[in-house]
Amino acid sequence: MTNHPTSWITVKSAGLYCKPGQFFIDPHYPVDYAIITHGHADHARPGHKKVLATAETLKIMKARYGDQAGLLQPLKYHRPIVHREVKISFIPAGHIIGSAQILLEYHGSRLIISGDYKRRTDPTCLPFEVVPCDVFITEATFGLPIFIHPPIEDEINKLLTSLQQHPMRCHLIGAYALGKCQRLMLALREQGYDRPFYLHGAMLKLCELYQSLGFSFGELTPVTAQNARDLGGEIVFCPPSALQDRWSRKLPHSLIGYASGWMQVRARAKQKGVELPLIVSDHADWNELTQTIQQVKAPEIWVTHGNEEALVYYATSQGLQAKAVANLHYEDEDD
Ligand SMILES: [Zn+2]
Ligand SMILES: [Zn+2]
Repeated sequence: MTNHPTSWITVKSAGLYCKPGQFFIDPHYPVDYAIITHGHADHARPGHKKVLATAETLKIMKARYGDQAGLLQPLKYHRPIVHREVKISFIPAGHIIGSAQILLEYHGSRLIISGDYKRRTDPTCLPFEVVPCDVFITEATFGLPIFIHPPIEDEINKLLTSLQQHPMRCHLIGAYALGKCQRLMLALREQGYDRPFYLHGAMLKLCELYQSLGFSFGELTPVTAQNARDLGGEIVFCPPSALQDRWSRKLPHSLIGYASGWMQVRARAKQKGVELPLIVSDHADWNELTQTIQQVKAPEIWVTHGNEEALVYYATSQGLQAKAVANLHYEDEDD
């Protein structure tokens, strides 16, 4: 088959490249034309000349990179465009707001790049949609059978129980500023938590961006030198990197929590000094990855972005063609 995707999709040093379309997907350094799956920093980088992405992803890039975001071209879900004979469509990926799987069709063959995805309900974004294709390129961040994410409600309950048991301690929760923080806040409100949320300065801009897109989180209050001492018994969200730095020392008796799929690995929690590990992930766990591989019915699976080997082995055992695709992976925002 001359139009097989191996003849028109390659991996270059900047990342996945579509030869006839002359564009990269989620390139790691500046290129002429980039298609971006979603706003996390390991996928959306500054400095490209032209960027095709959903309007939400472009807003995130604009907020973070300003003029460095590039010439921005929005594309709606399920509204394909044809560029140099390659038909490009975006399909919801269920990962974070604006996240898209990218469907490329060229001379009759269909390839999907999943980007990051999950199959759980997340009120901050549209759910993942299953679209059949010939080649499915899946992420594999949690691509080992040991990774099974619990329901988010269980983890929210852990946090609420801890607040009851330790009413004087400030609950400082490390969470990525894009996606994770907002999902946690909505889940807490869903379970009736009605106190204000206190935010590290680095969380504010993206929360405001979500608010401008119509989300409401109740009262959000920045942590300041003045109010920091009075935050016993409250929830404070900060970037994971701020959990142990000087900033966190001004909070009273802080109890450190961290919301991440990696918190299933006890050694990781311990190493980061996390007392309250919350296993909340915006990625597919092992069951979601294998379920998705079955559902898209692609005879060929390419695996990237994480623990590739076990998933390649799984797909092969299902009678599918499978291989790992190299990518230069940065773990900045991925959990
Ligand atoms: Zn991501
Ligand atoms: Zn990622």
